[in-house]
Amino acid sequence: MHKDTVVVAGGRPEHVHDAPVNPPVVLTSTYRGTGAVTAEDRSYARLTNPTWEAFEDVLARLENAPCPALSYASGMAAVAAALTLVPVGGTLVLPRHSYQGSMQLARRWQERGIFSVRTVDVADTRATLAALDGADVLWIESPTNPMLEIADLPALLAGARERGVLTCVDNTFATPLLQQPLDLGADLVVHSATKYLAGHSDVLLGALVCATAGLRERLHAQRTLEGAIPGPFEAWLALRGVRTLAVRVERSMAGAAELARRLEQHPAVMQVRYPGLPGDPGHERAAAQMTGGFGSVLSVVPRADAAAVEDLVSHLGVWTPATSLGGVESLIERRRRHHDEPRSVPENMLRLSVGIENVEDLWEDLRAGLDALADR
Ligand SMILES: *Cc1c(COP(=O)(O)O)cnc(C)c1O
Repeated sequence: MHKDTVVVAGGRPEHVHDAPVNPPVVLTSTYRGTGAVTAEDRSYARLTNPTWEAFEDVLARLENAPCPALSYASGMAAVAAALTLVPVGGTLVLPRHSYQGSMQLARRWQERGIFSVRTVDVADTRATLAALDGADVLWIESPTNPMLEIADLPALLAGARERGVLTCVDNTFATPLLQQPLDLGADLVVHSATKYLAGHSDVLLGALVCATAGLRERLHAQRTLEGAIPGPFEAWLALRGVRTLAVRVERSMAGAAELARRLEQHPAVMQVRYPGLPGDPGHERAAAQMTGGFGSVLSVVPRADAAAVEDLVSHLGVWTPATSLGGVESLIERRRRHHDEPRSVPENMLRLSVGIENVEDLWEDLRAGLDALADR
């Protein structure tokens, strides 16, 4: 089955007469049962919930996983669960341009002496492989946030496997439609379902997808004990979002590609970072390892200082000035307004998450702002 059919057909109730077409939101804290509890029993709602199971089934099929995904209360709950795979006293290799929350959490655990962190430029394959000596877990984002660098996933995942290093790919930016890390050799995939999967900026949810049932079992037992579980309605909203994932991704990606081309030509723009542009440093890698497109996040460095760029953002009408990404509405943000953003991210750089609005309206809004910058 094609992925754009799976998003619609997966996670449905049994095909029997009079069954509801959609899975219900199952609100219960416990399940009926007598006798010894077996691994197949639902038992208690911290272990599992039928509404999560529907979401977990679709996501696993999208990522070509051999076992259901695990849903979490947020993307960060999933990240935190994955980071516990770094043994105490072990070493985590982390891209220097990773999701803020992941970097901060890793740093805190390093400060507490739990494990040590090596940061790498994940686009530099040789340096990243060299950093794997004696390491325990390699964390990868590709494209990276917010620089949109592309990691050589097949080379890094194979190199990590040879060295016995566990690999975890945060696939939030690419979505399982454009990139399937398990097929490329990853042990674990992380999602902030808050972004593209749910897709409407109305819910927080996270997920892990495992390459083996053994790893899933271990993480499931841990999720049950730590309790970072989603509410059934949140899982239902995310599943409802997944139904339109393919059309949203296709539409927003076309808009992003068009805007990247036009932005590149604008005199007030110094640089556009988007792997879909032929001149982008990550273009060839992305073309080889991403399936069917380059995503709908891009970053733009205008020829103006941070204050002028903030002024541009505050005058936009169609774009929403906000953090986050992957929703139907286009969001724009100067990333360095977060004081924890790495200094290697230009102070005046804007990250754009292209939504599904008409691309001409998105362009007119941006163009007017950039024209005003050029006139200053
Ligand atoms: C947003 C995000 C997260 C964290 O997810 P939340 O749902 O906000 O907790 C992790 N990784 C990436 C790449 C993200 O964009």
